[in-house]
Amino acid sequence: CGIVGYVGAKPAAPILVDGLARLEYRGYDSAGVAVLGPSEIRLHRDAVRVRDLEATLPKRFGGKVGIGHTRWATHGVPSQRNAHPQLSADGRVAVVHNGIIDNAAQLRAELEADGVALASDTDTEVLAHLIARADGTLEDAVLATLDRIDGTYGLAVLDREHPDRIVVARNGSPIIIGIGDREMHVASDTSALVRYTRQVVHLDDGELATLRADGYQTFTRDARTTKTAVTVDWDTS
Ligand code: GLU
Repeated sequence: CGIVGYVGAKPAAPILVDGLARLEYRGYDSAGVAVLGPSEIRLHRDAVRVRDLEATLPKRFGGKVGIGHTRWATHGVPSQRNAHPQLSADGRVAVVHNGIIDNAAQLRAELEADGVALASDTDTEVLAHLIARADGTLEDAVLATLDRIDGTYGLAVLDREHPDRIVVARNGSPIIIGIGDREMHVASDTSALVRYTRQVVHLDDGELATLRADGYQTFTRDARTTKTAVTVDWDTS
């Protein structure tokens, strides 16, 4: 339902929670955040309100790169294990996802037949496993995974092995990059970004992007593009 992400020099968790609170008006049944700690992905999620997620954040939840989600369940009841971010079995990759993966049942069966222990009832979880199991750069792994997916998505991916970046992708569900001062934001709705920046890039369907603190690169399966930012006209009065 709602996606936020941050990569920069500040603690990510408060920024992610603030962004999720700004997306609350869309409605949701669960909320969660994941940040990159020094050596592992830290996860905090449950079928709770954003304010309760914030109130129960573990004391040690540092990390300057992170992603967050408010969920409106389509596959699997609202519960802690079905809340996003969803993790790969090895804990290396975390994914937040808006939309529906139509061939999730088949992909879940294939992963299970391959010995992967599924940890949720969601369609989203397959993305985390497939990305973690694919070869190449994180961007290659996301592209290879999206080739196997039928359905709609806005998504954001965190990878312990590539701790300097977030990779995002869009097909049928909005993804907007917010360009800050030596920091990058991402959200599924401009309202979560305007507190931080008015410079934004709207991804189109079929576009992906890599976000690092010092810049972004947009791309498609066939081309690297550098989509220029536009200024949002946002009346806060
Ligand atoms: N289909 C996903 C799920 O049920 C994402 C739902 C959403 O867009 O929030 O977990």
